[in-house]
Amino acid sequence: MSKEYKKMDVALLHLTNKKVILKLIKDNVQISRSALSKKSGLTPPTITRLVDELMHVDQLVESIGLGDSSGGRPPLIVKLKNENNYLIGIDLGATYIRGCLVDLNANFVSEMQVSTELEKGFESIVEKLVKIVEKFQKRKNPDDKIWGVGLGVAGLVNSETGIIESSPDFGWTNIDLGKELDKRLDLPFFYDNSTRLMALGELNMGIRENQKNFAIINMGYGIASGLVVEGILLKGYSGFAGEFGHISVDTDSEVQCKCGMYGCLEALASGHRITSLGKAAVENNESELLKELARGDKELITAELVALAALQNDPASLKIYNDVAEYLCKGIGVISNLLNPETVYIGGGVSLNGNLLFDLIESKKNKYLLPSSAKVKILPATHGDQATAIGAVALVLDKMMNLELTNPKN
Ligand SMILES: [Zn+2]
Repeated sequence: MSKEYKKMDVALLHLTNKKVILKLIKDNVQISRSALSKKSGLTPPTITRLVDELMHVDQLVESIGLGDSSGGRPPLIVKLKNENNYLIGIDLGATYIRGCLVDLNANFVSEMQVSTELEKGFESIVEKLVKIVEKFQKRKNPDDKIWGVGLGVAGLVNSETGIIESSPDFGWTNIDLGKELDKRLDLPFFYDNSTRLMALGELNMGIRENQKNFAIINMGYGIASGLVVEGILLKGYSGFAGEFGHISVDTDSEVQCKCGMYGCLEALASGHRITSLGKAAVENNESELLKELARGDKELITAELVALAALQNDPASLKIYNDVAEYLCKGIGVISNLLNPETVYIGGGVSLNGNLLFDLIESKKNKYLLPSSAKVKILPATHGDQATAIGAVALVLDKMMNLELTNPKN
């Protein structure tokens, strides 16, 4: 074995050990060096060296003093250095761009929301993204560090090239967002599909720790899902697993989906569908309340407005949500019977109208569940309207824990 090869091996081993220790510190919230040694199987001197490096070079870990001693020297307790270390997450949606600045434990420091204004085009959207990042950068104190920016985009994002291959919501095909952001941002940034990030956020920063089998459904303008099986977010052969919006829930339907097929869940239950059914109800004089809420202008009707009318017991709007919930339950039945998840989370704009959708689902779901899947819990996404933004944070945190990011300058 050549000397150079041996040297590389040592460096690789050192990095691998450091990642293991960093993960143990994060997972245990706070832990002593001796416990780190026990859990990792590494010798106390190696632990001391690695922890010192994580504290003083990487500045990701800090000491919180000495613990109780059961005889001998009291153990040094360490934890992730939460203070002064921040991450930015952004959800680039078709209606809103939402951003958050959070610490390493996903505690919100600041939030921001602006209208996407799709019609103004790609350059305007890039400008808005850059401005959000710059505003967060201005808010930090001199000692604060922002490690990177995560970004969730609605559409098919090629994780190898970073090219947004197609985004029907934005009308984009083969867009190199990374190239534009590279010119404008002075922070490392990473992006992925918004629903995949929602799942990643739920997996790493959700309400339940260590959940290994769950699905998250993103109900917005379109419908998609992220599927986590045995702790792994499914990618599929070409990276596009989870196209839940395109399972057929009505084989006799005459409603054509934008994918070309008929009776897809997305064609029958998305925010886009709710909006067009709401408009039709007003056009056909089926809902005075909806007309009133839209101030007589059917173009102002949104899925949110239809939900508002349904919550006030407007029959036409209730029927729309009732049908949507029925189709959705068929879909939830497919996922649950197939994958046996512990929980199916629902996020995205359509899920944010109080209990309306969840109550309807609860009343219908059992029709489509095998007794063995009937225990599945159906819950709103942990982080509500920030579910994708938190997922984007989880993406950066993942890079950070993998020691792929360099310590930023203040
Ligand atoms: Zn379809």
